Amino acid sequence: MKSTGKMPLRMCCVCREMHPKQELIRIVTQKDGSIFPDATGKAPGRGLYVCRRESCIETCCRKRVLNKVLHTVVSEEVYESIQRASQQT
Ligand SMILES: [Zn+2]
Repeated sequence: MKSTGKMPLRMCCVCREMHPKQELIRIVTQKDGSIFPDATGKAPGRGLYVCRRESCIETCCRKRVLNKVLHTVVSEEVYESIQRASQQT
C-alpha cells in the first residue's frame, strides 16, 4: 500500500518497524524523569513508541528495552502500566 502521507508513521523501539501511530503505544519521558504510557498522545515530553503486538510488549517488558533506549532505570511500575495500556483497545 502506498503511503498517502496522511498517516504518520512511528518506529517501534522494540522491533524497529514503522507503524501507523494508532497501532503504537506512546511512552512519554518528561524532564522531571517521569515516564508513563500516554494514552492521549498529547502529553508533553519526549515520546517513544512500542507497537501493540503482544511479542513487542512482552519483549519490551522482559528485556527492559526502555532502560536501554532511555539510558536510565525504568521502574517496574512503568512496564506494568505499559502492559495494561496494551490490553486496552
Ligand atoms: Zn514492535
